[in-house]
Amino acid sequence: MILITGGAGYIGSHTVINFLEAGYDVVIFDSLENGHAETIESLKLIGNIHFIKGDLKNIQDIENVFKNYSIDTVVHFAGFIQVEESVKNPSKYYRNNIIGSLNLFDSMIKYNVKKIIFSSTCAIYGKPQYLPLDEKHPKNPINPYGRTKLMIEEILDDYDRAYGLKSIKLRYFNVAGADSQKRTGEWHEPETHIIPNILKSIIKKNKSFKIFGNDYNTPDGTCIRDYVNIEDMAEAHKLAYLFLKEKNKSDCFNIGTEKGYSVKEVFATAEKAAGTKVQLEIMPRREGDAEVLLSDSSKAEKILHWKAKKSLEDSINTALSWEKTLP
Ligand code: UDP
Repeated sequence: MILITGGAGYIGSHTVINFLEAGYDVVIFDSLENGHAETIESLKLIGNIHFIKGDLKNIQDIENVFKNYSIDTVVHFAGFIQVEESVKNPSKYYRNNIIGSLNLFDSMIKYNVKKIIFSSTCAIYGKPQYLPLDEKHPKNPINPYGRTKLMIEEILDDYDRAYGLKSIKLRYFNVAGADSQKRTGEWHEPETHIIPNILKSIIKKNKSFKIFGNDYNTPDGTCIRDYVNIEDMAEAHKLAYLFLKEKNKSDCFNIGTEKGYSVKEVFATAEKAAGTKVQLEIMPRREGDAEVLLSDSSKAEKILHWKAKKSLEDSINTALSWEKTLP
């Protein structure tokens, strides 16, 4: 069985669907602090899932999972992910992300579970020294969120050397879109991400969309990002699982599309998809935003045989259909 921590969250729930549709049995462990009970209910309709509500900060909660289920691999999503909040409240981030991960890894060692896929981020690279970013780029995260992810990667490497825990770290670029069948999608409270925020402005009509900074050194002055479709992203986890099963070897991979879109381009694509015009407001730059983030994902293509298939338009269309189902 595969244990998915944070399986009630955004990337976690799409990955659960991907594994279920490939015929695997899945155990979801989630505190539901940011994940949603409604998501668990819709996942139950798809396949054989076992849901355990628990907090990784309580080692007993997670040890019980290994005691009660025969787990062969863990996919670890559970963690806090908001950059701005991590700057204001680093204690919350270090306690949750680091201690939670340590409790998980120590329980795995205790119960002899030696394979894990970890959700990491391109935020571990910090300010780009060159583009596109490959896996060898220096790692200098610029906020506590990114630092927790880098520390966990390093802990995993130490645990491999000492205890033989094999890990695949997937370093995500910007994830976008929703399940094509609307069974799950992006649902954060509060929402800080660009695409859901544009769509909320489209749906609510009288709500303007705020662009954080139009004075960057890019062709239209707004930040450029690499938007990976969520279903492509979920597929990367299954391929990482198969790689780990076959090779039993630790590694790390960037997961991105290698194509960049500016904030204004994303906005224009969304307006076109919805067939609506939305009011724009130019705001000051948001603290901690990099000017351009763009992946070199050739390693994932070569070794995992993963490649992004879906376009930004695909992601915006599915995100729009999903957004309309939200309360
Ligand atoms: N952004 C924006 N308005 C919003 C949300 C985001 O202009 O309401 C910009 C943000 O400044 C960044 C890009 O969109 O340049 C992507 O931001 P997001 O929070 O979606 O992802 P991040 O790159 O921070 O992980």
